[in-house]
Amino acid sequence: MYGSFFIQQYLDKGFELYEAQSEIDFAVDILFGYNAKDFILGKELTGEEKEKLQSVVSERVNTHRPLQQILGFAYVFGRKFIVNENTLIPRPETEILVDEVIKYVKNIPNPQILDIGTGTGCIPVTLTLENKNIIADSVDISTKAIETALKNSEYYKVSDRVNIFNSDIFENVQKKYDVIVSNPPYIPLSEKPNLQIEVRDFDPYNALFTSDKDGIEFYEKIIASANKYLKETGRIYFELGKGQFELVKNIFEKYGYKNITSIKDLNNIDRIIMACL
Ligand code: GLN
Repeated sequence: MYGSFFIQQYLDKGFELYEAQSEIDFAVDILFGYNAKDFILGKELTGEEKEKLQSVVSERVNTHRPLQQILGFAYVFGRKFIVNENTLIPRPETEILVDEVIKYVKNIPNPQILDIGTGTGCIPVTLTLENKNIIADSVDISTKAIETALKNSEYYKVSDRVNIFNSDIFENVQKKYDVIVSNPPYIPLSEKPNLQIEVRDFDPYNALFTSDKDGIEFYEKIIASANKYLKETGRIYFELGKGQFELVKNIFEKYGYKNITSIKDLNNIDRIIMACL
């Protein structure tokens, strides 16, 4: 097994085997473009490649910096996105959010979508690549996140359909949309000590945390003003943290939204909430 020397270094630092294996595969893919099949067919890393991989593994196991940040990339919908210390590392759950929006807008002729808190831009870039009719506006409060989102949209050549700009929620937003989508910060600051080091010390603070005790501050802020930015038939899609469905549903009801539904993730947690104006 080509990776056993590297995998052992993960195990020695208390990482799980499955994590070590998938991380080595990911590193080798990003660094050199090799996959497991190449190694089955006899591929071997050169001395120089081993050294490069070693420096990545050392940083990973000694500092707990997430591998995606060390390598500078994460996959979303099978596509590479640039990530860094200014952007949340996209999570697999966010693919469910993207997928739900894709399914919904399929029959809308020219879907207009707003993504709030875009980070890497993975949501609008993926949406526009998956559906050629989508036009997206995409906002973030962080100018550094915007720089990264712009790079990703330029790389995937969707800059003509993804308009990325600085805005504190709706501050600089002027249009009306078919869909508002967001994966907002939803972790109460009080939970910070309980998080994995990878998340606690490396994901950007303003992408993760809320100041209220339930983590629903940003859902409330968005829902409170969203009616001005939605078409009559408009919908909102949010990613949720564990246990937040009822809380966010209550906010939607308070503001008169209908057909409020949840979509579960693979762990049977209510992960996405959808509501119609
Ligand atoms: N929209 C980005 C994502 O889902 C960033 C979200 C955030 O920073 N809270 O990955």
